[in-house]
Amino acid sequence: MSLPRQRLVVLGATGSIGVNTLDVVARHPERFEVLALSAQNKVDQLAGQCRQFSPRFAVVGSEDAAVRLRNLLYPSGAGTTVLAGVEALERIASLPEADIVMAAIVGAAGLRPTLAAARAGKKILLANKEALVMAGGVFMREVHRNGAILLPIDSEHNAIYQSLPREYSSNLEDNGVRRILLTASGGPFRRMPLEDLEQVTPDQACAHPNWVMGRKISVDSATMMNKGLEVIEAHWLFNAPSARIEVVIHPQSVIHSMVEYADGSVIAQLGNPDMRTPIAYGLAYPERIDAGVEPLNLCRIGTLDFERPDFMRFPCLRLAYEALKRGGNAPAILNAANEIAVEAFLDGRLAFTRIPEVIEQTLSSVPWEEIATLEDVLSADAAGREAARQHAAAPRKQA
Ligand code: NAD
Ligand code: MG
Repeated sequence: MSLPRQRLVVLGATGSIGVNTLDVVARHPERFEVLALSAQNKVDQLAGQCRQFSPRFAVVGSEDAAVRLRNLLYPSGAGTTVLAGVEALERIASLPEADIVMAAIVGAAGLRPTLAAARAGKKILLANKEALVMAGGVFMREVHRNGAILLPIDSEHNAIYQSLPREYSSNLEDNGVRRILLTASGGPFRRMPLEDLEQVTPDQACAHPNWVMGRKISVDSATMMNKGLEVIEAHWLFNAPSARIEVVIHPQSVIHSMVEYADGSVIAQLGNPDMRTPIAYGLAYPERIDAGVEPLNLCRIGTLDFERPDFMRFPCLRLAYEALKRGGNAPAILNAANEIAVEAFLDGRLAFTRIPEVIEQTLSSVPWEEIATLEDVLSADAAGREAARQHAAAPRKQA
């Protein structure tokens, strides 16, 4: 018996997650149909994806990019309607025909379209962790209110999801869970002498030992802000208090995370570090499909190591825990300041070691407020960005 194909929208199709998603989709043409794709400005790459998958819609970041895409696609690609801007992203994320929305835009820019998918009650494959970090309560409320299904694609959260009972209900205690153990590779600077960190370049920071990813998340992995954002992400996804979320450094990135139960059992999910595994899990859930991933060869890997994270080396991790404890607008400010600081570092305007300083200064200079609505989230984001820009431009204070 053949079931109808699932119709898929990929937000951020030209990124690392987007490309891996389309790789899995191309292996299963009988299961998935691509309904819409988006990219900010990589028009040539998006045109190639449109030729391969014939989506009904393609959305880009500007009118100028839309004109370029139309020129590349028409007349033969006339089946694809090309649109531009945030409203168009919200529109494709909530198309009545869409079954699955892959949220793989990087950063706060993904919030509005991902929220639109939640409001439309879609099955959301969430890679865009920043959306959940900044809008946590508001986002989860829309998910629950509208019957959306939220499947985590971030490898750690996908591992936790797989290690929790299928009928996981509302909180850790009711499910006999004692702790969530989030694994982290420690990134490229785990062993670098602390005094050398000041001078590291964007290319060094983006050379992750185990994963090939977009540049922003690669820098986040080097500062370990990525793990900090993931602690906050885990808090919202699994309704877990921060005291029950522990970070463990595991340099091989083979165990993607673990759940410890009251009886002492620890359930882990293992696999090669290849994002196609969590992507395929999300796409086919609750079934399992081939993802094109090499089988895990434990004998070749030989050893799995674990160590405690060093909060002196990775102050961003401490800042994220603090922001989660403070609640309110603090996680949105943390995220906004991080995006500004990482952008400045990637542009060569800010030293690597200034990233946590800018975030800390921003968190202490923007007043704490409650968050109740999307507008509150967007104003916290704007205030965080504004303050972080000023701190990033200011000369470094002498110790
Ligand atoms: P990337 O930089 O490779 O791709 C980002 C995508 O978003 C691109 O398609 C780009 O065109 C689009 N985009 C960028 N700015 C935009 C804007 N302002 N408006 C609309 N679209 C925009 O990033 P990535 O590594 O694929 O990461 C995507 C998301 O997935 C991030 O939130 C990241 O934290 C998360 N994630 C990635 C990985 C990974 O292995 N790459 C793993 C876990 C989680
Ligand atoms: Mg991750």
